Amino acid sequence: MMSDGPVVGVLSIQGDVREHIRSLAAAGARAVPVGSEEGLRDVDGLVIPGGESTTMSKLALRDGLMEPLRQARASGMPMFGSCAGMIMLADRVEDARPDQETIGGIDMTVRRNAFGRQVDSFEVDVPVGAIGPEPFPAVFIRAPWVESVADSVDILATVSRSGHDGTIVAVRQGPLVATAFHPELTGDTRIHEYFVATVMEHR
Ligand code: GLN
Repeated sequence: MMSDGPVVGVLSIQGDVREHIRSLAAAGARAVPVGSEEGLRDVDGLVIPGGESTTMSKLALRDGLMEPLRQARASGMPMFGSCAGMIMLADRVEDARPDQETIGGIDMTVRRNAFGRQVDSFEVDVPVGAIGPEPFPAVFIRAPWVESVADSVDILATVSRSGHDGTIVAVRQGPLVATAFHPELTGDTRIHEYFVATVMEHR
């Protein structure tokens, strides 16, 4: 771990926090769990982990964290969401629970559990040009996909699956990055390195 790396928090109200902390540390960040408004003030960037977006929404609202998260995002804090975290960064969610809320920030519509119940999880090599020529080993677990994006959103990766071609599974809008898959569950730290570089650009 580099001691001069940026401080990157991992929202620790629910989900695979430890895996993200390990990947961020390997990518050169000082990685810390963030579970409070105070903790949010001490980080240069924030990861929203995979887990269950309905639970994350409920707990963030219960603990008074949703507004501070939205304010941090609105003030330009870089954020990276994987899977449930992607849902949390979406402006619009299909198949959301009626009471489910998001931080928002990426001008896109995502569909929860989009790949279908019979394919709960799968792994596929996905080309992600922004991180280099080697495809990324992408792990999908009850993953959302991106139904549509505004022109302001960059598409980082697509997959062809379940009879759908070119399904969007990774995006970026300014300092916000989101993947439908779980880079924290692989030994490949290139997505985390890409996010840490994004944090440094905005520091
Ligand atoms: N299906 C979950 C949700 O809607 C996301 C699954 C995941 O993060 N692995 O939040």
